Amino acid sequence: MRIAIIGGGIAGLAAAYELEQARQTDAQVEYTLFEASNRLGGCLASEIAGGAVLERGPDSFITEKTAAAELCRELGLGSELIPSNDADRKTCIVVRNRLVPLPDGLMFLVPTKLIPTLMTPLFSLRTKLRMGLELLLPPPPTELPDESVAALIERHFGRETVDRLADPLLSGIYGGDATKLSALTVLPRMVEMERQYGSLTRGMLAAHRQMRSRARKAAAGNGSIPIFTALRGGMQQLVDAVSERLDSACVRLSTPVSALGMTSGGWRVGIGDTAKFYDAVILATPAWAAGALLGQVDPELGEELSGIPYSSSITINLVYDEAKLGHLPDGFGFLVPASEGRAMLAATFVHRKFPGRAAPGKAVLRAFLGGMRNEALLDETDDALVALVRRELSEILGEDVLSSAIEPEHAQVSRWRRVMAQYAVGHQALRQRIESRVAALPGLRLAGNAYDGIGVPDCIRLGRQTARELVAGQKSCELTSRHAFVCQDVH
Ligand SMILES: Cc1cc2nc3c(=O)[nH]c(=O)nc-3n(C[C@H](O)[C@H](O)[C@H](O)COP(=O)(O)OP(=O)(O)OC[C@H]3O[C@@H](n4cnc5c(N)ncnc54)[C@H](O)[C@@H]3O)c2cc1C
Repeated sequence: MRIAIIGGGIAGLAAAYELEQARQTDAQVEYTLFEASNRLGGCLASEIAGGAVLERGPDSFITEKTAAAELCRELGLGSELIPSNDADRKTCIVVRNRLVPLPDGLMFLVPTKLIPTLMTPLFSLRTKLRMGLELLLPPPPTELPDESVAALIERHFGRETVDRLADPLLSGIYGGDATKLSALTVLPRMVEMERQYGSLTRGMLAAHRQMRSRARKAAAGNGSIPIFTALRGGMQQLVDAVSERLDSACVRLSTPVSALGMTSGGWRVGIGDTAKFYDAVILATPAWAAGALLGQVDPELGEELSGIPYSSSITINLVYDEAKLGHLPDGFGFLVPASEGRAMLAATFVHRKFPGRAAPGKAVLRAFLGGMRNEALLDETDDALVALVRRELSEILGEDVLSSAIEPEHAQVSRWRRVMAQYAVGHQALRQRIESRVAALPGLRLAGNAYDGIGVPDCIRLGRQTARELVAGQKSCELTSRHAFVCQDVH
């Protein structure tokens, strides 16, 4: 069975890794990985510069989703996994140029502790009263249709909670807009809590009790589980380790696939003027690229895929001599609500979040810009972007902490165009429509961040799963064809 993987980001790499394993035990499995750019990894890219590990894209993965750490262990990177420094975990929100810490007891977007919520300057008295009354909300009488994250949070805690919490948090994760993102997809647990309890605060308190008992068990066993896990040398370690396991003859860099077509026996993969033939295809590109390629095969599917919105982002790493800075506020960094009217969406104090990432005496500040509301920034020059971030950092942190006159020892700018899929309201229904159309195209699989999770572990899980399904499909095809049945999935 010959399989083409199109797209060499982490989803395509995970699929290739799985097929490489299958190939070693089953000579019938062959694969080719086509990647448009001159490197593998897609959004995963890090380098060591200025005495620090600088991440251009993701810096870690959520520990609770195990697929990424599992892959790292399989690749022999288990000893390279490092936990986030949760003891110092604290995040601030910028409110009228001041840094206000998130109140203690805030579980994602839901306040669960009375005194810190009452005392925080983050919310007005009116919002605090509304938060108290939220405890009384009964479960909705009927199942509610999907709605935006902003609508769900506003119904429970009021508009200010959307502006000061939901929007900046989601901009930080998805580069997205809370008024567009699907509550059912992005906050499925909260939607379930609302169904069960009515009040999200009561639902969160119940979840908190369960988590505490799980954490006690974990502490009695393996110790506490960090919220995030990273690789000591950066995410590039994962890319390099997977790449080393692949047969280099199966990897085509700088080879954008320009056309896809179905033949009587499988798939035609067009690269410029040439074409190659495969039994199956894993499309691990962004959905807009998959949509363009599938437009000739199934125009409706092409349109559905092309319609998935994407946001772009910019990350800027600045390395400073720590001795030249004042005392940075405690914690991992801060988020900037859109209402502040700034270019920056968030900033991380990298040397605090993952100690050891920077040489002693170095401070690394990583700023995020762009998102759905500020795509135009991508066209600015590196110098202009660095100058903008330095100015905004000084204004937010204060000239006494980070004077705009202090030059960073190293600056790194990374632009990510249309890389973050946005799960808009109705995403689950869209996904089902896409799945049923894909099921009608034998040998086709989709992987990547547009479908079932935006994070690195989700992309790895989906990439590996698509490859396993195709190999399993081939095996069942061999079995059924021995019994003269028609094989559905693979020709
Ligand atoms: C700045 C940033 C920070 C992030 N932070 C985190 C984080 O901390 N934790 C986390 O879990 N996730 C994070 N994410 C999200 C996560 O990194 C991505 O969702 C994930 O890496 C996407 O992987 P992918 O393989 O689906 O897509 P991509 O990485 O976009 O890879 C797709 C590949 O397809 C190739 N391609 C496109 N068209 C073609 C074609 N026609 N032919 C051949 N190849 C093609 C592209 O060149 C690209 O290499 C972050 C993302 C960004 C951008």
